[in-house]
Amino acid sequence: MSSEPNIGIVGAGVAGLGVAYELRESDADVTLLEKREEVGGRAATRRKNGCTYDHGANYITPDEELDEFVRELGEEELVEIEEPVWTFDSTGEISAGEERDRPALTYENGITQFSKRVFSTTDATLDTETRIETIVRDGERWRAKSEDSRYEFDALVMTPPAPQTAALLAEAEWTDPLRNDLVSEIEAVPYRTILSVLLHYPFGIDRPYYALVNTDKDHEIGWLSREECKSGHVPDGDSLLVVQMAPDWSLERYGESEKAITEAAAELAADLLEEPPLSSPDWSDVQRWRHALPDGGGDSSVIERGEEHSLYFAGDWAAGEGRVAAAFESGRAVGRRLL
Ligand SMILES: Cc1cc2nc3c(=O)[nH]c(=O)nc-3n(C[C@H](O)[C@H](O)[C@H](O)COP(=O)(O)OP(=O)(O)OC[C@H]3O[C@@H](n4cnc5c(N)ncnc54)[C@H](O)[C@@H]3O)c2cc1C
Repeated sequence: MSSEPNIGIVGAGVAGLGVAYELRESDADVTLLEKREEVGGRAATRRKNGCTYDHGANYITPDEELDEFVRELGEEELVEIEEPVWTFDSTGEISAGEERDRPALTYENGITQFSKRVFSTTDATLDTETRIETIVRDGERWRAKSEDSRYEFDALVMTPPAPQTAALLAEAEWTDPLRNDLVSEIEAVPYRTILSVLLHYPFGIDRPYYALVNTDKDHEIGWLSREECKSGHVPDGDSLLVVQMAPDWSLERYGESEKAITEAAAELAADLLEEPPLSSPDWSDVQRWRHALPDGGGDSSVIERGEEHSLYFAGDWAAGEGRVAAAFESGRAVGRRLL
């Protein structure tokens, strides 16, 4: 039997990858278990009809240290969005926004490149299309079970969004009283639901901004951005709007058909930009993010008590901020504690 510590990470979003990154030079045997087909989680990219688009996180806003880290991962195909973000209110009135205090970064191949590059620096094993359904405390070890596989670890790191992590814990085969405290703390983290609607047009939309954000949180649209401002994402002369609908609107229409969601969102986008042809995109796409962004976080003095039982938590909700940079750093901090 191997004497190397065996560490399992549920979720290969940026938090899970942050953990694996910190463990890259340790003697630990690290396994990432990811239910989707690839790494990146909500920092997600899709390709369709010659376009590349980030349909979850739009960009990374790194502090100085992360900026340096990103550049060390490789500057080729790194895209810095130059155009500003402007604002709009519930009446649809648009105003110039404040200047950025951090760069806004993605890649020509999309924001998933960040996760792919981080992953390539590790020697972690990645099992994709592996949804963990149950976790079990077995003596000093943790077992994680998917439909087809069983894994055994000395330490387990949970990185799914708080509601999913809480559900796994609530069903865990683990009798310690701490489990209930952890479940209560984690399931109390509120998450916003967002429908991301992608609208493509075979013509240009000339505006002085990259994106518009609703500042009074009282418009049906929360965010609207122009994917063509990211080099390499949209063929010249075309436009691709990323319209993120407000949480109430998104929750109310979550179960509606893609067609109904697209039609309603395109009407609202056309109204906001005062350009009627925008109500008829030539193609579209919809991504439903049930657990899009946490509003707040878990109390670290409670969630870190899991570590007494070799159970760790990372993610945007553990950091208390729905940002790629915060989630990645939360994973790195757990990785350092594991070391
Ligand atoms: C619409 C939208 C717009 C956003 N815009 C921005 C932005 O512009 N800038 C920014 O910085 N941030 C933005 N964010 C937030 C950012 O995407 C997240 O904060 C960050 O990606 C969270 O990373 P994470 O690793 O904590 O979680 P996730 O990315 O959710 O990773 C968790 C992973 O766990 C996997 N998983 C879940 N359950 C299981 C299971 N049972 N078994 C195995 N795997 C499982 C998931 O598939 C996922 O890959 C946005 C998010 C959304 C949804």
